[in-house]
Amino acid sequence: MSRVDHERRRQADRQRRQGTEGADELGALFAKARAFKKRPAKADLRAEAEAAIAKVTREMKCDGCGHEGTVTVPASRRRARLRCSQCGGYAT
Ligand SMILES: [Zn+2]
Repeated sequence: MSRVDHERRRQADRQRRQGTEGADELGALFAKARAFKKRPAKADLRAEAEAAIAKVTREMKCDGCGHEGTVTVPASRRRARLRCSQCGGYAT
């Protein structure tokens, strides 16, 4: 087993014979094109959309007037501070 780098030797020989540069030295235009991004599956997209618009039910109790009830809010408002429908104060 030899430790000779045949690729470099072959390239040097070729450059001596032909005086040309390889495609990889010419820059991005001549480089191999990038692979396409993998297209996401429709099932994945549907699941993502479903999660984005999913509703959650919260049990609310007003600190001010004691009014309580359940509200259905989008998942993005899960932790949002909601106002009481009776007195307008913040509910927890
Ligand atoms: Zn209230």
